[in-house]
Amino acid sequence: MPLSPEEVFAPLAHDLEVCGLTSRLLHGAPGVQNPDAWRVLVVSGVKVGTLEFDEELSTETLGMALWPVAFATQAAILENAQLLSGAVWPRCHTGHRHPMELSQEGEHDWPAWSCPKNPPYRRPVGQHPGP
Ligand SMILES: [Zn+2]
Repeated sequence: MPLSPEEVFAPLAHDLEVCGLTSRLLHGAPGVQNPDAWRVLVVSGVKVGTLEFDEELSTETLGMALWPVAFATQAAILENAQLLSGAVWPRCHTGHRHPMELSQEGEHDWPAWSCPKNPPYRRPVGQHPGP
């Protein structure tokens, strides 16, 4: 059974919630041919963009399906930061004002967020500790 878009998104919903943002997925997206593979992402009441959930990746591991969705989710939120009260997501540790970045590397903890200044500071996607 392929993972549903909602199952793939669940770790991101967690990381948004602990950072004080709510999230919702609306089925489909304007003008797409396969609405089952698309969702409109609503963060804290703002439609920030659309997400594609690759069906082939959804039959692989959660990590494989999650990485591109995490990338697109972060991009959509940072692009809409002004509408989201200056949201920096996901927050880095205390004293760092930048967002964490999605790491390409790692094995047991992949996919993970890492500090752009101190890459060994990482947290698996879905296990962000909050601010
Ligand atoms: Zn940092």
